[in-house]
Amino acid sequence: MAKLLEIKDLRTYFHVDEGTVKAVDGVSISIDRQQTVGIVGESGCGKTITAQSILQIMPHPGRIEGGQILYYPDPDGEPVDLAALSPRGRKLRAMRGNEIAFIFQEPMSALSPIHTIGNQIMEALMIHNDGMSQSEARQKALAMLESVGMPNPEQRIDEYTFQLSGGMRQRAMIAMSLACSPKLLIADEPTTAIDVTLQAQILELLKRLKDEQGMSVLIITHDLAVVAEMADEVVVMYLGKVVERGSVKDVYKNPSHPYTRALLDSIPRVGQERRKFLTAIKGTVPDPYSIPKGCEFQPRCEHAMEGLCEVRKPEYAEISPGHIARCFLYTHNESEVG
Ligand code: SF4
Repeated sequence: MAKLLEIKDLRTYFHVDEGTVKAVDGVSISIDRQQTVGIVGESGCGKTITAQSILQIMPHPGRIEGGQILYYPDPDGEPVDLAALSPRGRKLRAMRGNEIAFIFQEPMSALSPIHTIGNQIMEALMIHNDGMSQSEARQKALAMLESVGMPNPEQRIDEYTFQLSGGMRQRAMIAMSLACSPKLLIADEPTTAIDVTLQAQILELLKRLKDEQGMSVLIITHDLAVVAEMADEVVVMYLGKVVERGSVKDVYKNPSHPYTRALLDSIPRVGQERRKFLTAIKGTVPDPYSIPKGCEFQPRCEHAMEGLCEVRKPEYAEISPGHIARCFLYTHNESEVG
């Protein structure tokens, strides 16, 4: 399938008084047209900053220091390097919402409390579609609210966010994000702040809208079950780096990086031995100002090899075609350990 977005060796750093936080440190991810890719990891692993870097909306003083974010507006055309655009420039502003839309964990950060949800969707539609009349925009906004499953949309269209429940706000935000028919939807922890029943509904909704609109989705989550449900490809991140990447089928069937295995062992899985205990991942994510010298996961890793893992950085190894892991378990030879 044709590529839509190709992130190559992305580096997004934060220079602060205490030192430099390498929030994203050499990340490469590719998203095909109509594909869903999930980025997973604990908080502080760099998944959200990776996603925010695509549109350069990361918090201050975050800056892209290297790499490329190649966006292909046409399957056969030349890509645009989003990393090379000015964060406040016209080109990137035009891209936000129109070509690439973002939905957040907390809808209130995206919706205005002083405008009705109908007016907010209509405004997005009229900016995007030159010459669209008010009444056309209202009809379209109503249709969008219906398509995201908003209960009683004729009434809700004229309501403010404070009049809506959490689930309705989530649906309103999704309707607004999709108003301009983006080619890529980035969903950052879209179901973290809502209850389990609603979670399932929102995930189903995203899947349906993705198919109907033919868009690609990048989903950011700490929840491996969400990725299993939604994604074609999974990217596991730890301390700003990709530690494992592959199809959901390959990675879940044969998790190869010790961090991925630990993540999977910490959640219940279908088909898992009934008596197998769930285990928490040992230790905590290290301080971002003092990253371990060798493999970043070494202080928490049960397979760490003395004389190797705490000294050198591992390279990527191919586990199977399209499935890679960054770990010495697959690249070292015995003579290196000592
Ligand atoms: Fe563990 Fe070593 Fe692999 Fe790092 S490189 S994950 S420490 S085995």
